[in-house]
Amino acid sequence: MKLQSIRGMNDIFELEARLWGKIESISRKVFAAHGYTEIRTPIVENTQLFQRSVGESSDIVAKEMYSFSDRNGDSLSLRPEGTASVVRAYLQHSLMQDKAVQKFFYLGPMFRHERPQKGRYRQFYQLGVEVFGAAEALADVEVIQIQDALLKAFGIEERELHISSLGCSVCRPPYNAKLKQELDKISDKICEDCLRRKEKNPLRVFDCKNPNCQELYKGLPKMMDAICGDCQEHFADLKKGLDALGIRYKIDTSLVRGLDYYNRSAFEFVSTGEVLGAQATLSAGGRYDTLVENLGGKPTPAVGFAAGIERLALLMQEQKDSLQLRPDIYFVLPDDSAWEIALPLAAILREHGHYIETDLQKKKMKQQMKRANKLAARFVLILGESERESAKAILKNMEDGQQREISLDSLEQDLLNLLSN
Ligand code: ATP
Ligand code: MG
Repeated sequence: MKLQSIRGMNDIFELEARLWGKIESISRKVFAAHGYTEIRTPIVENTQLFQRSVGESSDIVAKEMYSFSDRNGDSLSLRPEGTASVVRAYLQHSLMQDKAVQKFFYLGPMFRHERPQKGRYRQFYQLGVEVFGAAEALADVEVIQIQDALLKAFGIEERELHISSLGCSVCRPPYNAKLKQELDKISDKICEDCLRRKEKNPLRVFDCKNPNCQELYKGLPKMMDAICGDCQEHFADLKKGLDALGIRYKIDTSLVRGLDYYNRSAFEFVSTGEVLGAQATLSAGGRYDTLVENLGGKPTPAVGFAAGIERLALLMQEQKDSLQLRPDIYFVLPDDSAWEIALPLAAILREHGHYIETDLQKKKMKQQMKRANKLAARFVLILGESERESAKAILKNMEDGQQREISLDSLEQDLLNLLSN
């Protein structure tokens, strides 16, 4: 049997991995500029955590989780998303005691048993934030602004923000009852998943990916038209903040989130380019004011988002070329007597952050030169026998082909000077 990675789980390497590194380092900068600190939670949690947060009516819990019993017989799951674990950690470590408002970011792999396709995988990576303790729409505005700043910093210009309100515990139950009545009338026409949603959380039918269902739901009453006064005020503040920032948005009355725990603001940044096809949502999130309490804490308002790194990377492919690593100097070592000079010298230059490449295979000099060329080294340092005898080395500038001799006595300092320019 040929050993292969699991379907929908990818190896990321070379330039793609460098692109991911770029995405991560930009993200860390943007998060730091907004005062978000990192939280790293385990990849495996008790299955119950997701059942009680993401919810039984979600596709994720109903049919996408990687759950298994461990050797003690406990039911564990690979995390399908990040929020549940962050809330668990927030409660477990009583993090509300440190600060009234807590702001976290995370980066890492998530697991869902979905049908793999472009932009949709079974192991995928998310970056995201969670804010605890702020009920005001200003927090929602900040979370949206971070996504906007990230996408801008990634060079993703073709994007659109969609927003909606999902109501609250006052206005959603009566709306849900009315919606269920309407769905009952067409229950012979809707898909099996929607039948399940109809019973558990009717609002979620709007998230169905089935075009037939989407068509049927066009005429149904919308949550946005039924939100209460407080929710209307909250939504008005959200718009006011976005307007102040000059962040354009579209109000999308059928935007709901795929997880059960959201209330009030829901938002998504969607790619308007061609690349992603049906998987165009780049980042998504919303407010979840009841989740902390549902998981055993005090009532704590919260809001967050998560973005899919694979989808971001798919839109940044043309940035890969500029991420190619070029050696500053390629050391050509014609024989092993050169090691005594070359190895410690390379170590010192590398300590200063310069990229020094050498031959690791005792190849012939000509092949070493070839490799230096292939790697597009800026300079080549040749430590040949005859040069060493006259206490010199040859430095070749690969861009203009110029060669010069450098005395071994001053070699280290000369190269450090050269590379710091
Ligand atoms: P979708 O509607 O595309 O299935 P979702 O509503 O399930 O997304 P969330 O759970 O809110 O998405 O996740 C936030 C982001 O994470 C998505 O916008 C997307 O960029 C990314 N994402 C979600 N599921 C996957 C997946 N299976 N593969 C790759 N990226 C994903
Ligand atoms: Mg999904």
